[in-house]
Amino acid sequence: MGEIESLLFSKDNIIVEAFPGAGKTKYAVQSAFQRKSALIVVRTVSEMFEVLRFSKSYGTIIPLWSRRTICPLASSIGTAFYSTCRAYRKLGRYEHCISQLSDEFVKDVYRNIRNPEKLRLIGTTYKKCPYNAVLRFVSSRYCVATYEYVLLHNEIPEKELVIYDEFHHLIDMIMSAVEHIPYKMLKGREGYAIRSVLKKYAKGELSRYEAEERITRIAEFMEGEVAESIVRGYFSFDRSGLYIFPQKLVLPIGTSSTKLLSAFVPSFIVRLAEKILGIKLVKHTIVPDRKQDVVIDGSVTSLYRERSEDMYKQYAELIDMYVIPDALNLVVFPSYDFMEKVLQYMKSETTRKPADKGVLIDVAGGQYTEGVNLPETLKTVIVAGMPYPVPTPELRVVEKVVSAKVGEYIALLRTIQALGRLRLREDTVGILLDKRFLDVELPEWINAHDITC
Ligand code: SF4
Repeated sequence: MGEIESLLFSKDNIIVEAFPGAGKTKYAVQSAFQRKSALIVVRTVSEMFEVLRFSKSYGTIIPLWSRRTICPLASSIGTAFYSTCRAYRKLGRYEHCISQLSDEFVKDVYRNIRNPEKLRLIGTTYKKCPYNAVLRFVSSRYCVATYEYVLLHNEIPEKELVIYDEFHHLIDMIMSAVEHIPYKMLKGREGYAIRSVLKKYAKGELSRYEAEERITRIAEFMEGEVAESIVRGYFSFDRSGLYIFPQKLVLPIGTSSTKLLSAFVPSFIVRLAEKILGIKLVKHTIVPDRKQDVVIDGSVTSLYRERSEDMYKQYAELIDMYVIPDALNLVVFPSYDFMEKVLQYMKSETTRKPADKGVLIDVAGGQYTEGVNLPETLKTVIVAGMPYPVPTPELRVVEKVVSAKVGEYIALLRTIQALGRLRLREDTVGILLDKRFLDVELPEWINAHDITC
């Protein structure tokens, strides 16, 4: 039995750091069917499909589609979907939202439907909310759901085993829970006082630190969730208003055995997971026989204040030098803007569609850096600049909530996911072009060499 397999079969609550391509999903499905009941939690609908595909040879696993995925009325509404859905149900304005599919229909049809598009279509045709069908299957022995489902639909009963795949995705969920409160929504005496602090900050009369102090003091005299979040320090602001983290961090599933899987597990992720799940976790790292070779060239940086035409030129020259002829090379840039600036100096021909050979370009977090499988001719991944996320107020709030450098973590995660495209194949190499890569902790499945001149 392989290492991941035996860890998943064990009774302990564990968090596993394993390289991309280690077969995490396959082993998750196998171990689920060894228990009386199990839930596999994944990031996206396409990952749910992957679990369904793997499970075919073991048994039936029921997909728990979220309301947003199968809603025939409002699934295109972004972050406001859940409040819109609540309002539709409360007002009873749409027939869809108040009538349900019959038990016979659910029994005969839902069990065999594996495509959420079809469910949406059924909802449209019969003018009934298809979500009620999903609800009747939450007690099934084996289920797969997204993080969105688990966080926002807390009706899943206890399972013997719960596996959270790609656990780092929780950071995105926390980020999307941050609420923006525009200035004009701040009402009453305290709201007026906060508004005047924010105005002074916008004019440069107060530093960020001073403004934060004053807002916290005002909130001490206020009541309600917003005030509580401010007093806890779970807030940030910009010229448009306040950003608040209002929710408790809870994944509400009872279990006798919990497994978390991710490609990169720094210690703050272990602490965060323990806090959210209310359990003690033991971290295990799967170190492959042959680690992924990665070279770090720290002679350049994409650090914003050091960007110049000269720096873009240096990046272009380095990329041209590291490109392997007669193979596929993936070059990953921190942003489209940075990519365009470097491309104007590059001599190598580039493409935005994968082929067996050539220089494929993408930005960090783009479709070729995670998800889509690339041809086996991929020999090198060049990460041209450390891909930090834009420092939004949401990111500042999350850094406070989890007390860690989340921006740096996201940059490393994007880098690691891009390197994961190499699948640890022989004769492949990752190249990291930024001096900041020299000062960070990389996962143990990477063998890093500093080649800075
Ligand atoms: S109740 Fe159902 S049909 Fe109505 S908005 Fe919500 S998910 Fe859509």
